[in-house]
Amino acid sequence: MRKNIVAGNWKMNNDLPETEMLISDLIKQNQTSDAEVMIAPTFTNLWQAFESLRQEGIEVIAQNMHFAENGAYTGEVSASMLKSIGIKTVILGHSERRAYFNETDESLAKKVDAALENDMRVIFCFGEELADRKSGNEEAVVESQIKNALFHLGADAFKSIVLAYEPVWAIGTGETATPEQAQDMHAFIRKTLADKYGNDVADEVSILYGGSVKPNNAKEIFSKQDVDGGLIGGASLKAEDFFAIVNAF
Ligand code: PEP
Repeated sequence: MRKNIVAGNWKMNNDLPETEMLISDLIKQNQTSDAEVMIAPTFTNLWQAFESLRQEGIEVIAQNMHFAENGAYTGEVSASMLKSIGIKTVILGHSERRAYFNETDESLAKKVDAALENDMRVIFCFGEELADRKSGNEEAVVESQIKNALFHLGADAFKSIVLAYEPVWAIGTGETATPEQAQDMHAFIRKTLADKYGNDVADEVSILYGGSVKPNNAKEIFSKQDVDGGLIGGASLKAEDFFAIVNAF
């Protein structure tokens, strides 16, 4: 059975005291749910967050990592460094990393390989720009992002991969894909996987939707057959909103 997942991407928000405050709010709101719950604070606060949430069933994950194990890559962090502080999951390919830090399908393929070699789970993000959707190219764009970064992998690797469809035009804009648009794309993504790896693999992969998911739209989006949860930006910065989304399952 594939898993329901709600992951909060804090991006470059919250210094250490703010992280401690938000975590204490999350602990107050925490309750058993039908979804795996994760948060992704900045690198500097990962250890603190990991320690504070150890007993809470909320997984602390990283927002990015480098593909090399170590060496002359000033400012970067490797998979083994993340693992050494207990981090087992990493978000790769977020559209902000692609847009502002020149991440490409090719560099992302290397990052995915490095994460998997280190037995980490990957939340792999992709999605089309507004111009792609306006010109009816959204499926072609999404298909090529998935193929270029992931299709060199064997079927077994997909046990450690979660996909996150995040249309760029819906991230941080307040504009959400309709539940039907999300479902259509998620079904297309699953079919793309099935064509390459077979239904058994495709049916087991969790596919998250990301893009202005809020407490008032989460239930409808998550009710769609091929939507297995969400990657949440803005609304993950308030414990009450984040858990309202988690509890939409
Ligand atoms: C994100 O950054 O992955 C995201 C989905 O952001 P938001 O929820 O703010 O649109």
